[in-house]
Amino acid sequence: MALIVQKYGGTSVANPERIRNVARRVARYKALGHQVVVVVSAMSGETNRLLALAREVMPDPDPRELDTMVSTGEQVTIALTAMALMDMGVRAKSYTGAQVRILTDDAFTKARILNINENNIRKDLDDGFVVVVAGFQGVDEHGNITTLGRGGSDTTGVALAAALKADECQIYTDVDGVYTTDPRIVPEARRLDTITFEEMLELASQGSKVLQIRAVEFAGKYQVKLRVLSSFEEEGDGTLITFEEENMEQPIISGIAFNRDEAKVTVLGVPDRPGIAYQILGPIADANIDVDMIIQNTGADGTTDFTFTVHKNELGKALAILRDKVQNHIGAREITGDDKIAKVSVVGVGMRSHVGIASEMFRTLAEEGINIQMISTSEIKISVVVDEKYMELAVRVLHKAFELEQA
Ligand code: ADP
Ligand code: ASP
Ligand code: MG
Repeated sequence: MALIVQKYGGTSVANPERIRNVARRVARYKALGHQVVVVVSAMSGETNRLLALAREVMPDPDPRELDTMVSTGEQVTIALTAMALMDMGVRAKSYTGAQVRILTDDAFTKARILNINENNIRKDLDDGFVVVVAGFQGVDEHGNITTLGRGGSDTTGVALAAALKADECQIYTDVDGVYTTDPRIVPEARRLDTITFEEMLELASQGSKVLQIRAVEFAGKYQVKLRVLSSFEEEGDGTLITFEEENMEQPIISGIAFNRDEAKVTVLGVPDRPGIAYQILGPIADANIDVDMIIQNTGADGTTDFTFTVHKNELGKALAILRDKVQNHIGAREITGDDKIAKVSVVGVGMRSHVGIASEMFRTLAEEGINIQMISTSEIKISVVVDEKYMELAVRVLHKAFELEQA
């Protein structure tokens, strides 16, 4: 007998028929003698619908109220999933995040899980129930409802698996595993049987939304056996996330990620002297705006340009801060913003032992006439910022150049 946590995403619970389909799979695992905890997302489109509704009433919605509202999507699907199971004769019980007591901090809309009380769940499992838990939500120490950020049901699934010391956490979605890149952009993309945590973490943080980044972090930290599979197919082992030493045949590049969510900020004509980076980025950090890539040129004429990227949603705020508080103070010529950019990243642990990956990447983009605006690298990834309109082309040509397509 094993304890398995199964997480089903929005498309997998999009309507009553699909919920019954989920219930059938859960019932099969139960019939094999396993204990099953199910985590569900809201029906696909529901979280977006709720967010839009909130913005109609309050353009910049209060975060506490927003979380109270968007968490309702998952409250619907847990009850429906439990009902579908009951209708098949399987004993089932649903829990919201607060009912489990998934304790989080109070950072509304992007809360972090601090602790999970697994007592009730464990008792129900021992009593023969399937336990269905709402993804994406928790409760802070004052009883306020919180949510974990978009895609956060993955993190609920993995955190529960860690707390319960489950034998496996299965993430069921609308693709049958992790691919070399998003198969919606590159139909030739290949499913990977395994990928290392490190690579998965890098792909997730560079924009592959097949797994939420915090879910991967959690799984790595607590050694949760994590697998991505299709909820629409009966067969198949999906993709297992592994530790590097378990992965004997390492390709140089494992995958390509892309991200349309960033925008570029440039401070032009910055005096070239100590302390400038701090004077520019200090106020940005104080405003709680995350900065991703940063570039500064060396100034030949005593001035330089300073460029960095932020989330698109925060571009306006970042520009306002720089224009109001920084520009005159440091004597910069101009502050510009550009939200028509995209970031494309190639990821692979094999890069550690191979040289020439960056030049191969730059050559491939050059041959297509794609201009690179920014570059950043780590031990296992190279990212470039390009004009948004060339993003898909860049992903496709790089996928081909690194021979990632199906054999
Ligand atoms: P769910 O609602 O089940 O959580 P998501 O939409 O969050 O599903 O994530 C699944 C989607 O992730 C896929 O439909 C696919 O388009 C996208 N995706 C992006 N990169 C990858 C990748 N490397 N491998 C597989 N899917 C990917
Ligand atoms: N329903 C939430 C979202 O759409 C959480 C999730 O699906 O993982 O982001
Ligand atoms: Mg998701």
